[in-house]
Amino acid sequence: MQTDPERMLRDLADLRRIGAVGTGVVRPAFSETDIAARHWLAERMREAGLTPGFDPIGNLFGLPPGEAPCLLLGSHSDTQPQGGWLDGAYGVIAALEVARAAREAGGPGIAVVSFQDEEGRFGGLTGSSVWSGALSLAEADAMTDTGGVALADARAAMADVAGGFVDPARFTGFVEMHIEQGPVLDQAGEAIGVVEAIAGLRQLDIRLSGQQNHAGTTPMRLRRDAMQGLIGFATRLNVVLEPLATPATVWTIGHVQVEPNAASIVPGMVRFTVQWRDAEAARLERMEAATRDTAAEVAGERGLGLEISDFPPLSPVALDPGLCAHLAAAAEHCVPGRWRRMVSGALHDATNVARLMPTAMLFVPSIGGISHSFAEDTAEADLIAGVEVLAEAARRITAA
Ligand SMILES: [Zn+2]
Repeated sequence: MQTDPERMLRDLADLRRIGAVGTGVVRPAFSETDIAARHWLAERMREAGLTPGFDPIGNLFGLPPGEAPCLLLGSHSDTQPQGGWLDGAYGVIAALEVARAAREAGGPGIAVVSFQDEEGRFGGLTGSSVWSGALSLAEADAMTDTGGVALADARAAMADVAGGFVDPARFTGFVEMHIEQGPVLDQAGEAIGVVEAIAGLRQLDIRLSGQQNHAGTTPMRLRRDAMQGLIGFATRLNVVLEPLATPATVWTIGHVQVEPNAASIVPGMVRFTVQWRDAEAARLERMEAATRDTAAEVAGERGLGLEISDFPPLSPVALDPGLCAHLAAAAEHCVPGRWRRMVSGALHDATNVARLMPTAMLFVPSIGGISHSFAEDTAEADLIAGVEVLAEAARRITAA
Protein backbone atom coordinates (compact mmCIF):
# COMPACT_ATOMS: atom_id res chain seq x y z
CA MET A 1 0.00 0.00 0.00
CA GLN A 2 1.68 3.21 -1.21
CA THR A 3 0.13 6.58 -0.32
CA ASP A 4 0.57 9.54 -2.68
CA PRO A 5 1.26 12.63 -0.52
CA GLU A 6 0.93 15.05 -3.46
CA ARG A 7 -2.51 13.68 -4.30
CA MET A 8 -3.56 14.03 -0.65
CA LEU A 9 -2.33 17.66 -0.52
CA ARG A 10 -4.25 18.40 -3.75
CA ASP A 11 -7.44 16.97 -2.26
CA LEU A 12 -6.93 18.99 0.92
CA ALA A 13 -6.47 22.16 -1.13
CA ASP A 14 -9.61 21.38 -3.19
CA LEU A 15 -11.70 20.80 -0.07
CA ARG A 16 -10.32 24.02 1.44
CA ARG A 17 -11.81 25.99 -1.47
CA ILE A 18 -15.35 24.94 -0.54
CA GLY A 19 -16.38 27.66 1.92
CA ALA A 20 -12.98 29.38 1.90
CA VAL A 21 -12.81 32.78 3.62
CA GLY A 22 -9.28 34.18 3.55
CA THR A 23 -7.01 31.48 4.97
CA GLY A 24 -9.91 29.89 6.86
CA VAL A 25 -13.05 27.92 6.04
CA VAL A 26 -16.71 28.51 6.90
CA ARG A 27 -18.61 25.24 6.54
CA PRO A 28 -20.98 24.77 9.51
CA ALA A 29 -23.09 21.60 9.47
CA PHE A 30 -25.82 21.57 6.77
CA SER A 31 -24.81 24.98 5.41
CA GLU A 32 -24.65 25.15 1.60
CA THR A 33 -20.88 24.87 1.71
CA ASP A 34 -20.98 21.88 4.08
CA ILE A 35 -23.43 20.04 1.83
CA ALA A 36 -21.33 20.90 -1.25
CA ALA A 37 -18.22 19.58 0.51
CA ARG A 38 -20.02 16.34 1.41
CA HIS A 39 -21.08 15.80 -2.22
CA TRP A 40 -17.51 16.55 -3.35
CA LEU A 41 -16.20 14.00 -0.84
CA ALA A 42 -18.73 11.41 -1.99
CA GLU A 43 -17.42 11.83 -5.57
CA ARG A 44 -13.80 11.36 -4.41
CA MET A 45 -14.89 8.21 -2.55
CA ARG A 46 -16.61 6.86 -5.67
CA GLU A 47 -13.46 7.56 -7.74
CA ALA A 48 -11.43 5.68 -5.13
CA GLY A 49 -13.62 2.59 -5.58
CA LEU A 50 -15.66 3.10 -2.40
CA THR A 51 -19.46 3.21 -2.31
CA PRO A 52 -20.54 6.50 -0.73
CA GLY A 53 -23.72 6.88 1.27
CA PHE A 54 -25.32 9.51 3.50
CA ASP A 55 -27.22 8.46 6.59
CA PRO A 56 -30.25 10.36 7.99
CA ILE A 57 -28.12 12.66 10.19
CA GLY A 58 -25.79 13.58 7.32
CA ASN A 59 -22.80 11.36 8.12
CA LEU A 60 -21.05 10.27 4.92
CA PHE A 61 -19.56 6.76 4.79
CA GLY A 62 -17.48 5.38 1.90
CA LEU A 63 -17.51 1.58 1.98
CA PRO A 64 -15.15 -0.79 0.19
CA PRO A 65 -16.62 -3.62 -1.92
CA GLY A 66 -17.74 -6.79 -0.16
CA GLU A 67 -19.44 -7.49 3.13
CA ALA A 68 -16.40 -8.38 5.24
CA PRO A 69 -15.94 -6.21 8.34
CA CYS A 70 -13.18 -3.66 7.75
CA LEU A 71 -11.22 -0.89 9.43
CA LEU A 72 -12.89 2.56 9.49
CA LEU A 73 -10.85 5.77 9.20
CA GLY A 74 -12.05 9.38 9.20
CA SER A 75 -13.14 12.47 11.10
CA HIS A 76 -15.50 15.35 10.19
CA SER A 77 -15.74 17.91 7.37
CA ASP A 78 -18.01 20.51 8.98
CA THR A 79 -16.26 23.51 10.58
CA GLN A 80 -16.69 26.11 13.28
CA PRO A 81 -18.46 29.34 12.20
CA GLN A 82 -14.90 30.64 11.71
CA GLY A 83 -12.92 27.47 11.20
CA GLY A 84 -9.46 26.43 10.19
CA TRP A 85 -8.85 24.45 7.00
CA LEU A 86 -7.52 21.31 8.71
CA ASP A 87 -9.76 20.74 11.73
CA GLY A 88 -11.57 17.53 10.76
CA ALA A 89 -10.80 17.92 7.03
CA TYR A 90 -7.28 16.55 7.43
CA GLY A 91 -8.52 13.37 9.11
CA VAL A 92 -11.09 12.77 6.36
CA ILE A 93 -8.68 13.41 3.47
CA ALA A 94 -5.88 11.36 5.08
CA ALA A 95 -8.41 8.53 5.51
CA LEU A 96 -9.46 8.86 1.86
CA GLU A 97 -5.84 8.68 0.72
CA VAL A 98 -5.13 5.55 2.78
CA ALA A 99 -8.34 3.84 1.60
CA ARG A 100 -7.49 4.75 -2.02
CA ALA A 101 -3.93 3.46 -1.66
CA ALA A 102 -5.30 0.23 -0.17
CA ARG A 103 -7.69 -0.18 -3.14
CA GLU A 104 -4.81 0.38 -5.58
CA ALA A 105 -2.77 -2.24 -3.75
CA GLY A 106 -5.64 -4.75 -4.01
CA GLY A 107 -6.53 -4.64 -0.32
CA PRO A 108 -7.18 -4.56 2.57
CA GLY A 109 -10.63 -2.96 2.39
CA ILE A 110 -10.73 0.30 4.33
CA ALA A 111 -13.82 2.47 4.90
CA VAL A 112 -13.90 6.27 5.28
CA VAL A 113 -16.29 8.46 7.26
CA SER A 114 -17.02 12.16 7.56
CA PHE A 115 -19.24 12.68 10.60
CA GLN A 116 -21.75 15.53 10.64
CA ASP A 117 -21.94 18.50 13.04
CA GLU A 118 -18.87 17.60 15.06
CA GLU A 119 -18.39 21.31 15.70
CA GLY A 120 -21.81 21.72 17.27
CA ARG A 121 -23.91 24.06 15.16
CA PHE A 122 -26.74 22.14 16.86
CA GLY A 123 -25.30 20.00 19.60
CA GLY A 124 -21.68 18.91 19.42
CA LEU A 125 -20.43 15.58 18.02
CA THR A 126 -24.03 15.33 16.79
CA GLY A 127 -23.54 12.92 13.85
CA SER A 128 -21.40 10.45 15.78
CA SER A 129 -23.69 10.75 18.83
CA VAL A 130 -26.69 9.69 16.77
CA TRP A 131 -24.77 6.97 14.92
CA SER A 132 -23.44 5.52 18.18
CA GLY A 133 -26.86 5.60 19.84
CA ALA A 134 -25.89 8.16 22.51
CA LEU A 135 -28.52 10.51 21.09
CA SER A 136 -31.76 9.57 19.31
CA LEU A 137 -32.59 11.08 15.94
CA ALA A 138 -35.74 12.59 17.51
CA GLU A 139 -33.66 14.25 20.26
CA ALA A 140 -31.22 15.56 17.66
CA ASP A 141 -34.06 16.89 15.48
CA ALA A 142 -35.34 19.04 18.34
CA MET A 143 -31.98 20.82 18.79
CA THR A 144 -31.69 24.33 17.38
CA ASP A 145 -28.76 26.51 16.32
CA THR A 146 -28.17 30.01 17.73
CA GLY A 147 -30.45 31.43 15.01
CA GLY A 148 -33.35 29.20 16.08
CA VAL A 149 -33.13 26.79 13.10
CA ALA A 150 -34.08 23.24 14.12
CA LEU A 151 -31.79 20.41 13.07
CA ALA A 152 -34.85 18.63 11.63
CA ASP A 153 -35.31 21.51 9.16
CA ALA A 154 -31.61 21.81 8.38
CA ARG A 155 -31.19 18.14 7.56
CA ALA A 156 -34.24 18.25 5.27
CA ALA A 157 -31.83 19.88 2.77
CA MET A 158 -30.15 16.46 2.41
CA ALA A 159 -33.32 14.34 2.51
CA ASP A 160 -33.03 13.61 -1.22
CA VAL A 161 -29.73 11.76 -0.73
CA ALA A 162 -30.17 10.31 2.78
CA GLY A 163 -30.17 6.53 3.09
CA GLY A 164 -30.17 4.34 6.17
CA PHE A 165 -27.66 4.12 9.00
CA VAL A 166 -24.57 1.98 8.36
CA ASP A 167 -24.42 -1.00 10.73
CA PRO A 168 -21.44 -0.46 13.08
CA ALA A 169 -20.86 -4.24 12.93
CA ARG A 170 -19.51 -3.51 9.42
CA PHE A 171 -16.30 -2.22 11.10
CA THR A 172 -13.54 -3.87 13.10
CA GLY A 173 -12.23 -0.63 14.58
CA PHE A 174 -11.88 3.12 14.06
CA VAL A 175 -8.82 5.37 13.81
CA GLU A 176 -9.32 9.14 13.73
CA MET A 177 -6.47 11.33 12.55
CA HIS A 178 -6.71 14.96 13.67
CA ILE A 179 -4.64 18.08 14.16
CA GLU A 180 -3.61 18.46 17.82
CA GLN A 181 -5.23 21.91 18.27
CA GLY A 182 -2.77 22.52 21.10
CA PRO A 183 0.93 23.40 21.42
CA VAL A 184 2.49 20.22 22.82
CA LEU A 185 3.83 18.56 19.63
CA ASP A 186 4.76 21.87 18.00
CA GLN A 187 6.76 23.02 21.04
CA ALA A 188 8.52 19.66 21.34
CA GLY A 189 9.34 19.55 17.62
CA GLU A 190 7.58 16.18 17.33
CA ALA A 191 5.59 14.88 14.35
CA ILE A 192 2.98 12.52 15.83
CA GLY A 193 0.88 12.09 18.95
CA VAL A 194 -0.60 8.69 19.73
CA VAL A 195 -3.71 9.58 21.71
CA GLU A 196 -4.35 7.13 24.53
CA ALA A 197 -7.31 8.86 26.12
CA ILE A 198 -9.74 11.71 25.62
CA ALA A 199 -10.02 13.85 28.72
CA GLY A 200 -13.22 13.97 30.73
CA LEU A 201 -14.68 17.26 31.91
CA ARG A 202 -16.39 18.52 35.02
CA GLN A 203 -17.75 21.95 35.76
CA LEU A 204 -19.21 23.73 38.76
CA ASP A 205 -21.18 26.95 38.83
CA ILE A 206 -20.27 28.76 42.08
CA ARG A 207 -22.04 31.75 43.60
CA LEU A 208 -20.52 33.79 46.44
CA SER A 209 -22.79 36.35 48.05
CA GLY A 210 -21.65 39.15 50.35
CA GLN A 211 -22.99 42.59 51.21
CA GLN A 212 -23.45 45.16 48.46
CA ASN A 213 -22.44 48.58 49.86
CA HIS A 214 -20.95 52.03 49.22
CA ALA A 215 -17.33 51.77 48.03
CA GLY A 216 -16.43 55.11 49.67
CA THR A 217 -17.92 54.74 53.12
CA THR A 218 -17.54 51.04 53.98
CA PRO A 219 -14.30 50.34 55.94
CA MET A 220 -12.23 47.46 54.61
CA ARG A 221 -12.54 45.41 57.81
CA LEU A 222 -16.33 45.56 57.71
CA ARG A 223 -16.75 44.55 54.08
CA ARG A 224 -18.15 41.27 52.82
CA ASP A 225 -16.88 41.72 49.27
CA ALA A 226 -17.88 38.87 46.97
CA MET A 227 -15.25 39.81 44.36
CA GLN A 228 -12.47 39.58 46.97
CA GLY A 229 -13.89 36.14 47.77
CA LEU A 230 -13.43 35.07 44.14
CA ILE A 231 -9.87 36.39 44.07
CA GLY A 232 -9.04 34.55 47.31
CA PHE A 233 -10.65 31.38 45.97
CA ALA A 234 -8.87 31.51 42.59
CA THR A 235 -5.47 32.04 44.19
CA ARG A 236 -5.90 29.22 46.70
CA LEU A 237 -7.42 26.86 44.11
CA ASN A 238 -4.18 26.97 42.07
CA VAL A 239 -2.19 25.97 45.18
CA VAL A 240 -4.60 23.17 46.09
CA LEU A 241 -4.94 21.66 42.59
CA GLU A 242 -1.26 21.83 41.61
CA PRO A 243 -0.21 18.72 43.62
CA LEU A 244 -3.20 16.74 42.25
CA ALA A 245 -2.44 17.54 38.60
CA THR A 246 -0.42 15.93 35.82
CA PRO A 247 1.12 18.08 33.06
CA ALA A 248 -2.01 17.32 30.99
CA THR A 249 -4.50 18.35 33.71
CA VAL A 250 -6.16 21.72 33.11
CA TRP A 251 -8.58 23.95 35.04
CA THR A 252 -10.23 27.22 34.11
CA ILE A 253 -12.33 29.93 35.71
CA GLY A 254 -13.79 31.02 32.39
CA HIS A 255 -17.04 32.82 33.02
CA VAL A 256 -17.46 35.47 35.72
CA GLN A 257 -20.45 37.63 36.51
CA VAL A 258 -20.06 40.40 39.11
CA GLU A 259 -23.08 42.13 40.68
CA PRO A 260 -23.74 44.95 40.32
CA ASN A 261 -20.46 45.45 38.40
CA ALA A 262 -20.07 49.15 39.18
CA ALA A 263 -16.94 51.11 40.10
CA SER A 264 -18.32 52.64 43.31
CA ILE A 265 -20.13 49.65 44.75
CA VAL A 266 -18.64 46.86 46.89
CA PRO A 267 -19.68 43.77 44.88
CA GLY A 268 -22.52 41.92 46.57
CA MET A 269 -22.37 38.78 44.44
CA VAL A 270 -20.10 36.93 42.06
CA ARG A 271 -21.08 33.95 40.03
CA PHE A 272 -18.41 32.00 38.13
CA THR A 273 -17.62 28.67 36.52
CA VAL A 274 -14.77 26.36 37.44
CA GLN A 275 -14.08 23.72 34.80
CA TRP A 276 -11.40 21.04 34.87
CA ARG A 277 -10.34 18.26 32.50
CA ASP A 278 -8.26 15.13 32.91
CA ALA A 279 -8.06 11.61 31.49
CA GLU A 280 -8.61 9.87 34.88
CA ALA A 281 -11.99 9.73 36.55
CA ALA A 282 -10.43 9.39 40.03
CA ARG A 283 -8.39 12.57 39.54
CA LEU A 284 -11.47 14.46 38.31
CA GLU A 285 -13.19 13.31 41.50
CA ARG A 286 -10.33 14.45 43.79
CA MET A 287 -10.23 17.81 42.01
CA GLU A 288 -13.95 18.27 42.57
CA ALA A 289 -13.60 17.59 46.31
CA ALA A 290 -10.67 20.04 46.53
CA THR A 291 -12.60 22.70 44.61
CA ARG A 292 -15.68 22.38 46.82
CA ASP A 293 -13.56 22.40 50.02
CA THR A 294 -11.65 25.49 48.91
CA ALA A 295 -14.85 27.37 48.08
CA ALA A 296 -16.31 26.45 51.51
CA GLU A 297 -13.13 27.57 53.32
CA VAL A 298 -12.94 30.91 51.56
CA ALA A 299 -16.65 31.59 52.02
CA GLY A 300 -16.36 30.71 55.73
CA GLU A 301 -13.33 32.94 56.32
CA ARG A 302 -14.91 35.93 54.62
CA GLY A 303 -18.47 35.55 55.83
CA LEU A 304 -19.81 34.98 52.33
CA GLY A 305 -22.80 32.89 51.32
CA LEU A 306 -21.98 29.93 49.05
CA GLU A 307 -24.09 28.05 46.51
CA ILE A 308 -22.69 25.43 44.16
CA SER A 309 -24.43 23.69 41.27
CA ASP A 310 -22.89 21.19 38.89
CA PHE A 311 -23.11 20.57 35.16
CA PRO A 312 -23.54 17.08 33.71
CA PRO A 313 -20.02 15.56 33.78
CA LEU A 314 -18.33 14.09 30.71
CA SER A 315 -16.42 10.92 31.54
CA PRO A 316 -12.89 10.39 30.23
CA VAL A 317 -12.60 7.86 27.42
CA ALA A 318 -9.69 5.42 27.34
CA LEU A 319 -8.79 4.48 23.76
CA ASP A 320 -8.05 0.88 22.76
CA PRO A 321 -4.61 -0.28 24.00
CA GLY A 322 -4.24 -2.79 21.15
CA LEU A 323 -4.86 -0.19 18.46
CA CYS A 324 -2.66 2.32 20.31
CA ALA A 325 0.19 -0.22 20.26
CA HIS A 326 -0.13 -0.47 16.45
CA LEU A 327 -0.20 3.31 16.12
CA ALA A 328 2.89 3.61 18.34
CA ALA A 329 4.75 0.98 16.29
CA ALA A 330 3.77 2.78 13.07
CA ALA A 331 4.94 6.12 14.47
CA GLU A 332 8.27 4.68 15.57
CA HIS A 333 8.68 3.11 12.10
CA CYS A 334 7.94 6.34 10.16
CA VAL A 335 9.20 9.11 12.51
CA PRO A 336 11.55 7.36 14.97
CA GLY A 337 11.96 9.26 18.25
CA ARG A 338 9.68 12.09 17.03
CA TRP A 339 6.36 11.03 18.53
CA ARG A 340 4.76 10.72 21.95
CA ARG A 341 1.80 9.15 23.71
CA MET A 342 -0.61 11.83 24.89
CA VAL A 343 -4.10 12.75 26.07
CA SER A 344 -6.57 14.75 23.99
CA GLY A 345 -7.90 17.73 25.93
CA ALA A 346 -10.47 18.37 23.18
CA LEU A 347 -13.49 16.20 22.44
CA HIS A 348 -13.64 14.25 19.18
CA ASP A 349 -16.00 11.88 17.34
CA ALA A 350 -13.72 9.08 18.57
CA THR A 351 -15.36 9.64 22.00
CA ASN A 352 -18.64 8.34 20.59
CA VAL A 353 -17.25 5.65 18.28
CA ALA A 354 -15.29 4.16 21.23
CA ARG A 355 -18.68 2.99 22.59
CA LEU A 356 -19.09 0.74 19.54
CA MET A 357 -15.67 -0.68 18.63
CA PRO A 358 -11.93 -0.51 19.37
CA THR A 359 -10.98 3.12 18.69
CA ALA A 360 -7.76 5.15 18.62
CA MET A 361 -6.51 8.57 17.49
CA LEU A 362 -3.42 10.15 15.92
CA PHE A 363 -2.43 13.82 16.19
CA VAL A 364 -0.20 15.95 13.98
CA PRO A 365 1.17 19.29 15.24
CA SER A 366 -0.72 22.58 15.03
CA ILE A 367 1.61 25.51 14.32
CA GLY A 368 1.66 27.67 17.45
CA GLY A 369 -1.04 25.45 18.92
CA ILE A 370 -3.68 27.56 17.10
CA SER A 371 -7.06 26.10 16.05
CA HIS A 372 -10.70 27.19 15.71
CA SER A 373 -9.20 30.16 13.90
CA PHE A 374 -8.46 31.20 10.32
CA ALA A 375 -4.78 31.15 11.40
CA GLU A 376 -4.87 27.36 11.99
CA ASP A 377 -2.11 25.55 10.04
CA THR A 378 0.24 22.55 10.02
CA ALA A 379 3.58 22.24 8.20
CA GLU A 380 3.29 20.33 4.91
CA ALA A 381 5.99 17.89 6.05
CA ASP A 382 3.87 17.05 9.11
CA LEU A 383 0.73 16.56 7.00
CA ILE A 384 2.70 14.10 4.86
CA ALA A 385 4.28 12.30 7.83
CA GLY A 386 0.80 11.96 9.35
CA VAL A 387 -0.71 10.17 6.35
CA GLU A 388 2.32 7.88 6.16
CA VAL A 389 1.90 6.93 9.83
CA LEU A 390 -1.83 6.39 9.31
CA ALA A 391 -1.16 4.11 6.31
CA GLU A 392 1.51 2.16 8.19
CA ALA A 393 -0.86 1.80 11.17
CA ALA A 394 -3.68 0.60 8.90
CA ARG A 395 -1.30 -1.96 7.36
CA ARG A 396 -0.35 -3.26 10.82
CA ILE A 397 -3.91 -3.28 12.18
CA THR A 398 -5.36 -5.09 9.17
CA ALA A 399 -2.51 -7.63 9.11
CA ALA A 400 -2.91 -8.45 12.82
ZN1 LIG B 1 -12.20 18.62 14.79
